[in-house]
Amino acid sequence: MALIRKGDTVSILSGKDKGKSGKVLQIWPGTQKALVERINLVKHFERRSQQNPSGGVVEREGALAISKLAILCPKCKKPSRIGWELGEGSKQRICRRCKGTIDAT
Ligand SMILES: [Zn+2]
Repeated sequence: MALIRKGDTVSILSGKDKGKSGKVLQIWPGTQKALVERINLVKHFERRSQQNPSGGVVEREGALAISKLAILCPKCKKPSRIGWELGEGSKQRICRRCKGTIDAT
């Protein structure tokens, strides 16, 4: 089971966006890559199209290795190691720092 999920807020541990945080937009468990809102922006040159009539440079998020991300605990607001705890009928993710649950449900 993946520790980081879509919709989580994560902190960036390394690379040019180190120290920044953002929301996970997409996860590819197979390749261990993730897309994080406004992080690792890459410039793309686009041709003129109906959607973008003037063409030119647009910035888009580039995929990051999941290993470079740490979940930002919603309770203690710090990048945390995540553990598992058996909740009511399902496993819940908990913050090892403050022992709070990560999941809203
Ligand atoms: Zn915490």
